[in-house]
Order: sequence, then structure tokens, then C-alpha cells
Amino acid sequence: MAQPKKKTTHSRSRMRKIKEKLDPLNLVECPHCHNLIPPHKVCPYCGYYEGKEVVKIETKEK
Ligand SMILES: [Zn+2]
Repeated sequence: MAQPKKKTTHSRSRMRKIKEKLDPLNLVECPHCHNLIPPHKVCPYCGYYEGKEVVKIETKEK
């Protein structure tokens, strides 16, 4: 297995985590329900991906 060349120091991993938190999450509009969702993910609102329903979303009805 490939091994990392250098140890990731505590400081470096913390700096990376801070950057991940500061960067705004990339969101795209779902073509089916038009909610904002992360790209290349199944829509959590309607369960559609690439024009097909891949996950059944059970909505709670009151
Ligand atoms: Zn959707």
C-alpha cells in the first residue's frame, strides 16, 4: 500500500479543517424539485438522481 511521505502534523490537519469550515458548501439546484442540494448526490428531498427516482423518500404527514 502507498504510504504518506510526511506525517500530517496536528497544526496542519487543524488548518485544513478550519479551511473546510470557512469554504462555503457548493450547492446546485435539483432539476426535479428545485431545492439546493450538493452536486453528484441523490436529492434528499425527492430522492431523484439523473432524472430517475433512486431512493423512496417517505414524507411525514401530519
Ligand atoms: Zn429533488
